[in-house]
Amino acid sequence: MNQETQKKKRFPNDKQHYLLSRGLSLKREELVLSKINKNYYIYRKLTSRHIKIFKQYLSGETLEKIGRKRRLTRERVRQIINSVALYKASEAAKEGRFVIDLKEYLQGMKRMHKLAKKARTKEESTPRVNKPKRWSRYYDYCRICRTTIIPHASHGYCKKCYPKTNIFKELQEASRLRNIEKRREYEKEYSKKYHRRPEVIERKKEYYKRPETIARLKKYRQEYYKRPKVKERIKKYYQRPDVKEKNKERNRERYIKKKRGIY
Ligand SMILES: [Zn+2]
Repeated sequence: MNQETQKKKRFPNDKQHYLLSRGLSLKREELVLSKINKNYYIYRKLTSRHIKIFKQYLSGETLEKIGRKRRLTRERVRQIINSVALYKASEAAKEGRFVIDLKEYLQGMKRMHKLAKKARTKEESTPRVNKPKRWSRYYDYCRICRTTIIPHASHGYCKKCYPKTNIFKELQEASRLRNIEKRREYEKEYSKKYHRRPEVIERKKEYYKRPETIARLKKYRQEYYKRPKVKERIKKYYQRPDVKEKNKERNRERYIKKKRGIY
C-alpha cells in the first residue's frame, strides 16, 4: 500500500484533501478534518442568533455581558464564538480562498480575540470581585490552636504549631540523613583528589622526614598497642584457624634454620 492510496481511502473528498495536504502530517490532517466536519454539522443547528453573538463579540462586548443578555454562561458564549470562527475558516477553505493550516488558524483566532479586546472600552469591562479568603484551601482554622491570624504552613497546622508535629519531625530527620550521606560522598571524592595532587605528595614526604613527627609516631605506636581493645583484637587474630596454620609453617622454618645454625 502506498501512502497516497491510504490517504485517498481515508479522505474520499479530493478537494478537501488537497486543501489540507500541505505542510501537515496525516494525524494533523485528520484532526482538522474532523473538526471541520463537526462544525458543518453544528452549522445546521447554528442560527442567526449565533452569528449575531459572534458579531456582538467582535464589536467589543464582553463574554459576560453577552451571556447576561442571552441567558447563557460565559463558557457557552465562548464555545459559540469559536465554532462560528471555525465554520467561517472552513467555508473560506472550501471556496479555495486559502489553505487551512493549523498554525494559521490558531494565529487568526488570536488576532480575532485581540481585535475584540481593543474594541472594548474600559467602562464595559467589569472588575473581578474578590471572594473573602479562607484561612487555607481545605481548613478553616489550625488543628491545634484554632487560630486564623497565623498563616497556614501545611497539613492544616499554622506556622507555629507545624514544627511541633510528628510529620515535620520525620521530614526533618529524613532530610538530615540525606544530607549526611551527600556530605560523606562529597568528602570521599574530595579527599581522593586532594591526596593525588603533586604539591600535597611533596608536602607529605617532608612532613614524615621531620624528627618531631617521627618521635610523635613512635609514642603513638607504643600507646596504641597498650590499649585493651587493641590487645583483644590481636588475640582474636592469632586464634583464627587460617592464621594458626600460617604461623605453624613459619615457626617450623625458623626452627630448622636455628638447628642448622647450631650444628
Ligand atoms: Zn496553630
